[in-house]
Formats: sequence, C-alpha cells, structure tokens
Amino acid sequence: MSRPAEPKLPPPREAEYMFDDWTIKVTKSHIMGSQCEVQGGCDESLEPEKRCNLCRYEHILRLPSLPDMVFADNSLKISHKGGGSITFNALDALKCVNVHEENLQVAHAEAWKEARSNCEFAQKVVKPYDWTYTTDFRGALDGNLLAEKSSERIDLDKLRVREEIKFYDEVFLYEDELDDNGSTRCVVKVRVMPSGFFVVFRHYLRVDQVIVRVNDTRLYSPKGASYILRETSSREAPISKLRVDASVYKDADVVWQHLPLVTETVDKLVVV
Ligand SMILES: [Zn+2]
Repeated sequence: MSRPAEPKLPPPREAEYMFDDWTIKVTKSHIMGSQCEVQGGCDESLEPEKRCNLCRYEHILRLPSLPDMVFADNSLKISHKGGGSITFNALDALKCVNVHEENLQVAHAEAWKEARSNCEFAQKVVKPYDWTYTTDFRGALDGNLLAEKSSERIDLDKLRVREEIKFYDEVFLYEDELDDNGSTRCVVKVRVMPSGFFVVFRHYLRVDQVIVRVNDTRLYSPKGASYILRETSSREAPISKLRVDASVYKDADVVWQHLPLVTETVDKLVVV
C-alpha cells in the first residue's frame, strides 16, 4: 500500500493593482514552520536564498529566537514603472530588530521583572537582544526610488474624507504573544482611492503592566504623482500612565492616538 502523499501547502496568493504609473502587489502565504522544510536539513554550503525560509531567516538574522508567527513569504511591494520600488516584508523588518541590546528601558524592565519574578519569560529581559522584536523598519527601497528630505506632510484630514475604496489589503508579517505576557505584531495595510494610495506599516508592542508602543510608517501618493510622502513615528507610554482601558490599548489601530510622540521622521520618495 502506498503512503498518502505529504499534505502540500498551497502556493502564495498574489494580488496586483495598477494605479497610474504605480503597481501595488500583495503576496500572502502560510505561517513559516518551526522546523527546517528540507528532509535532513538545508545544505549550509548553499546561498541563503536557496535554503528554506526558516534556515534563511536564522542565517541572515542571527536573532536568538524568531517570533512565533512569521509570514516569511508575505509582502507588499509598490513599484513605479520607472524602475524603483519600496517593499515591506518580515525579513527586512526583522533585520531592524536590535540583535545586541534590549530596547525596553531598564526602568520598565525592572518593574516588570519584580511583578513577575516567578515567570520564566521575565528572565528573558536580561538577554542582550530586543526580545520585543521592535522594528524601526521604514520599507526597503530598490532601484531608482530614492528618499530625499522634505517637510511636506500627509494630509490626514483629506484621508478621512469618505471615498470609494478601489483596492484594499492587509498583510501580516510577524506576531508573537511574548509567552502570554503581551503582544508584538507587525502588519502592513494598503488602500487605494481615486485620489491616491495610502499605506500604513505598523509595529505594535504591548508588554502587560509595562508599556505600549506603536511604530508607524505611513506612505501617501496623490493621484498622478511620481513621488510618495513617507512619515515615520514612534509613540509609546507606560501602561501605568495610560488613561484608557485595556480594550483601547490592546487595539493597535486605536491606541496610537492616545500615545505621546517620541520620534518622527518625514521624507519623500522620488523617482529619479
Ligand atoms: Zn532549512
């Protein structure tokens, strides 16, 4: 009797939308497994690109551990017909995680460790890498799409005006529940309207009893433009100082408006 075939995972699903000279491409696939996908293990003499996702991620990132859920094949890519592009994916986002030191302020970490001295996970705080997977990734630029200084801001009021949504998607990149002590999550969303396209790449972090942090990168390109405005902000507050209830600070899409701004970077991506 022949053995039943190994269940084959479905191939990544792709969606593409053309908006003037821009092409918006979304790729979505399954969660990366926690074991090497190659029987007997990947050949270490192979280029990282030729290894399975897990071996590639481990080799390139050199993080002591990876988030529980990594969508290694998911991405959002926006390309201009002139050749340049900006891409959001988990690998590049995780490359921006600090491998050498933890990012959470010691004061927070100490208070948290005290509150949970019996918790094994709390001991991870002393490990010298950012176990919260906080990223300051702003999108990977390629080709002739270049960043230049700008003071031009995205008109958020204009974006609140109700418009037809011509294309929308949400792409998960990574997530981890920090052993039930909170949440760290990286997601990118894209929305195309008749007046332009808008992207929010968001890293949300909540460490229970300690902190909520939201790092956002927003992109906006008005219809007909050959440039993209890019704004990155980092907002955070200790949970003890937040005057909102848990349903608010557990919602990444709502809580950012209640967090004080810590840093901000504004620039413009231009096709050269
Ligand atoms: Zn492998």
